[in-house]
Amino acid sequence: MRLVMLGPPGAGKSTQAQRAAAKYGIPHLSAGVLLRTAVASDAPVGALAKDAMARGDLVPDDIVQAIVFERLDGPDTHNGFILDGFPRTIAQAKALDRFLRDRGLGLGAVIELKAKDHALVERIAARNANAVACREPRRIDDNAEVLRSRIHTYQRQTSPLLDYYRRQGILHSVDGMLPIAEVEQEIDRIVARLQIERVPDSDV
Ligand code: ADP
Repeated sequence: MRLVMLGPPGAGKSTQAQRAAAKYGIPHLSAGVLLRTAVASDAPVGALAKDAMARGDLVPDDIVQAIVFERLDGPDTHNGFILDGFPRTIAQAKALDRFLRDRGLGLGAVIELKAKDHALVERIAARNANAVACREPRRIDDNAEVLRSRIHTYQRQTSPLLDYYRRQGILHSVDGMLPIAEVEQEIDRIVARLQIERVPDSDV
């Protein structure tokens, strides 16, 4: 089962992707985590990514694609994966389609988590406060100013993907303002329907 989680920062993509990955026994691949790991490892691409991330801008497509596709070719993705934070541009979506097509594969579903802007700001502020309380490292891009930029980047560059996947007939939207457990149930229903509709031997 190959899934993509789509939604603005703070909509709950990572929370839901982690839960679904554990439940369905497939890896959760977060573009943000992969990029932060590259930055922390002092890899040359990390330096290029770091400034864009600190501003709330997108990292150039070729850098993200190289990192994500290398991970997607890993040995644990045979039964599928949940992508979180990738693709974020139409160019990335087309590159992902090509990458999968070359391997005789396709996406099963793209799940959009819808959330209101004011809730995103409140959720990220809570995530920050929690990190401080738990003495965990705070993300440099989790502050009010950069968050506004990340939300704007989502609306400008990522939200066009909704139409892209709607046209492919694989977009499913879920209300991300519902409590975590209810969002999870909605996602379970989508996945269950996919498994029923799945043609035997088709590989999505
Ligand atoms: P969030 O979705 O909460 O904003 P992420 O951890 O997914 O956080 O991403 C953090 C930052 O990493 C983004 O603001 C962006 O700078 C960079 N990034 C993540 N995924 C991509 C991507 N697919 N393309 C370009 N940049 C990305």
